Amino acid sequence: MVITEIEYEGCKGYGEASMPPYLGETHESVMKFLSSVDLSGYSNVFDLETILAEVDEIAPGNTAAKASVDIALHDLKGKLMNQSLCNILGLNKNKISYSSFTIGIDTPDVIREKINEAVEYKILKVKLGRDNDKEIIETIRAVTDKPITVDINQGWKDREQALDMVHWLNKKNVILIEQPFSKDRIEDTAWLTKWSPLPVIADESVQRLADVIKAKGIFSGINIKLMKCTGIREAYKMMILAKALGLRVMIGCMTETSCAISAASQLSPLADYTDLDGSLLINNDVFEGTKLVDGKVMLSDLPGIGVKKKDNREI
Ligand code: MG
Repeated sequence: MVITEIEYEGCKGYGEASMPPYLGETHESVMKFLSSVDLSGYSNVFDLETILAEVDEIAPGNTAAKASVDIALHDLKGKLMNQSLCNILGLNKNKISYSSFTIGIDTPDVIREKINEAVEYKILKVKLGRDNDKEIIETIRAVTDKPITVDINQGWKDREQALDMVHWLNKKNVILIEQPFSKDRIEDTAWLTKWSPLPVIADESVQRLADVIKAKGIFSGINIKLMKCTGIREAYKMMILAKALGLRVMIGCMTETSCAISAASQLSPLADYTDLDGSLLINNDVFEGTKLVDGKVMLSDLPGIGVKKKDNREI
């Protein structure tokens, strides 16, 4: 990942770009994009609408690089106002509930071990979409009856089989399905959503604000991630638009440090589902901020995105 710092009158805002391979960004591309961002000409540091719209226009794509600028400016804004972003957006941080926690697919023995280690988390997430989907769910169900969210990651091929599987999963206390088919299979997805007893949530199919409207009638909801959509400014708009369209909202993440996770968590009072376990899956987190306490999303009391650097570590 790349950590950004934006300094204004002695105050520092932190941001982060995390680059999952499927979005096509690299350390080099993020550094190149950031070198083309010049914020020195803006007189009003609070005018993020103007600043971030212009940052977005520097080049197409580069959504994680843009998110790192967006997060750092929102952090700076909150620090200058001495308020959490949650307060600035008018959201109630006590309204956040539990985050799902990812159980990596492995042998049955290892899966059982991972579930026992995840005892404090109330909702489990598993990635399915191969030929052993039922076996994996049965392995989990032999150990726990906790609700499960499943991410198919575009892995299902046949829509009739998919519907059978959704009905089966519904009986196993699975609560939602994420991205069942490849993103070009719009008709099959709409058909599955229509007949599915479980909500069908878009991930790869919905990246930015303009994609939200296309999800109506195709999916039941959308998974919003800061790295896909250029950051907090656009994620907030996507959440409002999705709600207006009757779509459910999940706030999700990539593998990220507590910097980007804490930023996303500031929006989580608006979400129906929270999937912010990204910083628990890394061992080099240079920040502390939002935590999962007994699986529940707990924002810190710090202003901005709510983070501080651990032990004054250099980054
Ligand atoms: Mg996904």
